[in-house]
Amino acid sequence: MPASHSDFSDFALLPSLQNTLKEKKYTQPTEVQLKALPLLLEGRSVVGVAETGSGKTLSYALPILHLLKEQESSGNRVTEHGTPRALILVPTRELGEQVSKVFKIFTHDTRLRVRTVLGGTKIEVAKENVRGAFEILVATPGRLVQMIGRRQVKLEDVRILVFDEADQMLDQGFIADALKIADACPGDRQMALFSATVSPAVQKLMNELFAKATVIRTAGANRVVAKLKTENREIKDGKRMPVLEELLAKKTKGGTVIFANTREQCDKLYAELKKKGFVCALYRGEMEKVERRLNLKAFRDGKIDFLISTDLASRGLDVEHVGRVINYHMPKHLENYLHRVGRTARAGRAGLVINFITERDAEIVKKLAGVRAQHS
Ligand code: ADP
Ligand code: MG
Repeated sequence: MPASHSDFSDFALLPSLQNTLKEKKYTQPTEVQLKALPLLLEGRSVVGVAETGSGKTLSYALPILHLLKEQESSGNRVTEHGTPRALILVPTRELGEQVSKVFKIFTHDTRLRVRTVLGGTKIEVAKENVRGAFEILVATPGRLVQMIGRRQVKLEDVRILVFDEADQMLDQGFIADALKIADACPGDRQMALFSATVSPAVQKLMNELFAKATVIRTAGANRVVAKLKTENREIKDGKRMPVLEELLAKKTKGGTVIFANTREQCDKLYAELKKKGFVCALYRGEMEKVERRLNLKAFRDGKIDFLISTDLASRGLDVEHVGRVINYHMPKHLENYLHRVGRTARAGRAGLVINFITERDAEIVKKLAGVRAQHS
């Protein structure tokens, strides 16, 4: 979703980064990148509020890589073990893996080192990850606090601290850990926060830690992305399955994520679809982590067309090829709706959302009408 006629080559980024951008066919920055990137390059602190799929990761990853490489080139190389210069806090392990992948696109040329410390893995793995010297650390707050306590990671040399997908992080009660981490970093560090929405908890964090930051809001913040088509299907007498079957029988481009609100609804849906011969997979909380990751991978790789999920999967996950989101059960809150639909129509690609509407969904439908009126 290029925001203007500007080009990545207009930014004062190092040639090694420009080359990789060209190679990966990233040409035009998105709106949030256009606004946040120059500020971060100048060393300013930034709060960026922009819709899901708008390219928030690169808007901080590129300036971080640039600044760290410059520090290194000026003869100031990281030599001490376990002392990152950039720290990115993320709400979940999956997001952490995703963010670290984005950084790794650029490490071949820059030779900067990215490591992860993520919850949901054995602590030994995290311990192994932070052995040696490296520049960039991607971490979930809980696990990181644990490792700081054991002096396995030291934050004395952190120059920039990023809170990514902050609204999701704070939902999970991570605020105390996040503040502890901020406290362990030097006082003059640069700060950034990125979020799709400004929940009350994000607002609180902004007040406490980002008083001096420049706040950026893109035109699409808090709204539904532009190339998204929405269809509402009226469901009578609770008869959802026939409507779903009809939808899934038609071939579409890209995968379909089917959302339900509870684990039980997901399991039931999975069993019914399987019985009807649809190849699908589950992605929800309280399942074997390994299985969950394998399911996501199969979906990501296009081996499975249908992923059945709770709101867990709607949280910031960047699955490239989601062509369609089906709200088999409508969420109760607008914020969850926005995160779910943010799985499709990413970075300006077209996407379709189909809502199964019963009489009980009147309230969310009313709120959605408000979002769309604002949008057009
Ligand atoms: P967000 O964090 O805002 O939800 P991401 O950073 O995960 O979004 O990016 C969403 C998708 O957009 C990714 O697949 C990414 O590769 C792609 N993307 C990011 N920036 C650009 C760009 N300037 N041009 C084209 N695609 C982009
Ligand atoms: Mg993101």
